Amino acid sequence: MNLLQAENGYFGEYGGSFVPEQLTDALNHLEQAFEQYKNEPEFMEELQYYLKEYVGRPNPLYYAKQLSDKIGGAKIYLKREDLNHTGAHKINNVLGQILLAKRMGAKRIIAETGAGQHGVATATACAMFGIDCTIYMGGLDTERQALNVFRMELLGAKVVAVQDGGRTLKEAVDAALEDYAQNYENTFYLLGSALGPHPYPTIVRHFQSVIGYEAKKQHFEKENRLPDYVVACVGGGSNAIGLFAPFYYDKEVKMVGVEPGGKGIETGEHAAPLTAGEPGVIHGFKCYMMKDENGEIAEAHSIAAGLDYQGVGPEHSYYKDTGRAEYVAINDVEALHAFHTLSRMEGIIPALESSHAVAYAMKLAATLEKDQTIIVNLSGRGDKDVEQVFNLEISK
Ligand SMILES: *Cc1c(COP(=O)(O)O)cnc(C)c1O
Repeated sequence: MNLLQAENGYFGEYGGSFVPEQLTDALNHLEQAFEQYKNEPEFMEELQYYLKEYVGRPNPLYYAKQLSDKIGGAKIYLKREDLNHTGAHKINNVLGQILLAKRMGAKRIIAETGAGQHGVATATACAMFGIDCTIYMGGLDTERQALNVFRMELLGAKVVAVQDGGRTLKEAVDAALEDYAQNYENTFYLLGSALGPHPYPTIVRHFQSVIGYEAKKQHFEKENRLPDYVVACVGGGSNAIGLFAPFYYDKEVKMVGVEPGGKGIETGEHAAPLTAGEPGVIHGFKCYMMKDENGEIAEAHSIAAGLDYQGVGPEHSYYKDTGRAEYVAINDVEALHAFHTLSRMEGIIPALESSHAVAYAMKLAATLEKDQTIIVNLSGRGDKDVEQVFNLEISK
């Protein structure tokens, strides 16, 4: 049960907590509560209950035989997070944090969302627990993702469209942080990826590491050994760190994080800070990030809305520097190709985010031996993306 521990909130030089003074108290309080409850038997039992009965865990580690045979190299296993309730891994973390919020006596939950996936997962669990829920979303994003706004409202959440600045995720984060700073005594800020100020990266990893623990056990049952590779897409980094972290001390297991190369790294239109960024501070923590020529946060682009972020979790930044994990980029076209291939070969339509991991795994498998194995995290299902892909195809 070993995960790498942050030291004073840092993984190497990454992480930390760059926040206004009022928030320091709130974050310290959050860290104390997390440390107190995370290993408490009653808390673990309750989380376990909801993961099983509500999310549907454990989900399978599926051997993609048709795909593997076609490529003719390593065996590709898919960790089926796409089969979770709400169709992705995000619900694992949302449930964990809501149980923590309840223990802390919070009366309301706030969250911010870009494409809407984290907002929907949060609204879902808040509905089930009967907790008041407010989701901040950039005004432009509410227009682009109107259906997700409607979903959140169906689930009883209040969606606040933030009309400042560029009207996207950055402004939504600022609005959520402001709400939190003012209301932290009765409000819990539910963060959606393994990033943000300490202790969030550690908390999110804790709740997502169920992915890696399950996958390790399932791989042992099928292959009687550890996998050769674990591969996952990296947006903020939560599904990847959830798969990777439980393998951290298994040095023979290679880890590959797949970033969105967008229209190509050389075009600058991507969302790949680990591949083509540099260290800096964004949204209250230090990590690799995308900067423009003035050192400001650059625009990000990806075909997959869930990967469209200029920063990345601090633990991934540290893994990159130490070489524990390798980070590569897959562009929009390659991801789209994998989206089609997996649909056709296995009858599984992957999320466009997950398609990046599948695309890299297909390349990698071709270079390996038949007795080697790769675990790919299928972070989500592609139903949400079918309309987008349809529109791309008919506009060709
Ligand atoms: C949100 C999302 C991601 C990216 O977020 P991470 O924190 O990097 O995991 C990846 N896949 C799916 C399906 C998502 O919804």
